[in-house]
Amino acid sequence: MEVEMRRSAVSISLIGLLILTLALFCGSCADNGGAAGEDAVYQAGTITALQQGILEGDETFADLREHGDFGLGTFNGLDGEMVALEGKFYQIRTDGLPRNVAGGEETPFAVVIRFEPGSAQEKTLPASSSSDELKAALDRILPTSNDFDAVRIDGTFDLVKARSVPAQQKPYPTLDEVVAQQTVYELHEIKGTLIGFRFPSFVQGINQPGYHFHFLSEDRKSGGHMLDCSLRAGAKATFDSSKELELKLPGNSDFNKASFN
Ligand SMILES: [Zn+2]
Repeated sequence: MEVEMRRSAVSISLIGLLILTLALFCGSCADNGGAAGEDAVYQAGTITALQQGILEGDETFADLREHGDFGLGTFNGLDGEMVALEGKFYQIRTDGLPRNVAGGEETPFAVVIRFEPGSAQEKTLPASSSSDELKAALDRILPTSNDFDAVRIDGTFDLVKARSVPAQQKPYPTLDEVVAQQTVYELHEIKGTLIGFRFPSFVQGINQPGYHFHFLSEDRKSGGHMLDCSLRAGAKATFDSSKELELKLPGNSDFNKASFN
């Protein structure tokens, strides 16, 4: 009798747990509009298309916002660097100044996620004197190199070496040709956030394997694509790792006619 009562108590608590789990799961479905998963990385366009000079896409920032509040990318014509943090989207041209992005603007390449790290996905970082040192420190923390990891780092930087690229006109050059015209600038003793991703090696062709970070200063007055940095000890790193990548390809004729062989 006593054993049976214990069993039914266990069953009731299991049912309770199941209901709670379903409620939490459905809650997160509602949060992202029922998209591919709880926290799928959403990507518009491919890095290969940019490399071939297909610098226009048809993904609007209004649509991108539906899929995430955190991420990076660029704009049609490679008109600067894009960074998204806490639901705000910024365009950083070669003057290094972040501007708000209108919902109707379009991008040929962007990656976003609804950034929702758990409390266990937060670590304090040691000092690092270069971006390579920082990446090595992150590699030691992240559990597997085969997931899609969104990474946010908040801290004080002795140096951020950043770049942006100038807007291009048709006929478009390749990505390498545009990067050759990049404007590089250094930000010293600055508080801010690195917003980025670490992608596995097998995304080659679709995205850039390894780390890719854009910087945004705490005062929102500077930023860009991070080339190198020196970070003081005590910075906070937060992660949101995902098993899901939702990829949306451009629907325009330049993309449709391109040969990727
Ligand atoms: Zn970038």
